[in-house]
Amino acid sequence: MAGLNVRSVLVTGSNRGIGLELVKQLLGKSNPPQWVFATCRDPEGARGQELRNLVSKHPNLVIVKLDAVNPASIEEATRRVEEQLDGSGLNLVINNAGIFSDVSLATVDSEEMLGAYKTNVVGPMLVGQAFLPLLKKAAQGSSQKGLSCSKAAIVNISSVLGSIERVPETFFKPVISYRCSKAALNMLTRCQALSYAEDGILCAAVHPGWVQTDMGTQKADLPVDESVRGILTVLPTLSEKHSGSFWSWAGETIPW
Ligand code: NDP
Repeated sequence: MAGLNVRSVLVTGSNRGIGLELVKQLLGKSNPPQWVFATCRDPEGARGQELRNLVSKHPNLVIVKLDAVNPASIEEATRRVEEQLDGSGLNLVINNAGIFSDVSLATVDSEEMLGAYKTNVVGPMLVGQAFLPLLKKAAQGSSQKGLSCSKAAIVNISSVLGSIERVPETFFKPVISYRCSKAALNMLTRCQALSYAEDGILCAAVHPGWVQTDMGTQKADLPVDESVRGILTVLPTLSEKHSGSFWSWAGETIPW
């Protein structure tokens, strides 16, 4: 984890679950980022309490309101982050916010499908577009050669359920809207990687494992701290040859 030398990082959906743990572990590093932008939908409300508790101990933590399905909210968050960075770029954006519904082909409807796409694909696309100028600035200001998560990167938290090749193994849970939206997020990741490589920005998709969160439930395999330790160990190992690829929290590549 010592390898991830980011000066600034932004995490979406960081008020609970994997996003909150990402923020906690980034702040707890021996070389923590100068700025951790923890974004969530409702920083002032009850759901933002855990983040607010961290602020007094960590002056490098900035809580920013960001609703991933609301373009105006994303634009406002961009302005807030830009102001705080005061002329510097943003090194790392982690698109973590996501939603899940246990629906099959027999029960899914268009509203459910479109809702999953809006949060799980359109959100990360808009966040990537909005923060692109700050990511480019980080890449331009870096003396590092090649691509890396420490220099400038977009990491999309995906799911193995979005792997088309793995469907035969994972279809015991159909979750149609979720797996289709994560497959689309994987495609977005690949397109972002090709589009943004010339700007010096690495893009990758990461599966966090089946994790004990509200979404994963307590029946899941992995405690959230273990998953996030794994993710933060994988990120510094990624370079330009890995941009546009799909990784598990344990450092294995996952087929599309
Ligand atoms: P949780 O349900 O525990 O947390 C989801 C987070 O996303 C919450 O902070 C929630 O905010 C936020 N969120 C949802 N919609 C929006 C939105 N429109 N704008 C901003 N934030 C939003 O999920 P996990 O922590 O388990 O999951 C995090 C990511 O990991 C997701 O992308 C998920 O698909 C992925 N993942 C999780 C797995 C697991 O087993 N847990 C397995 C594979 C992938 P709020 O509190 O406001 O609702």
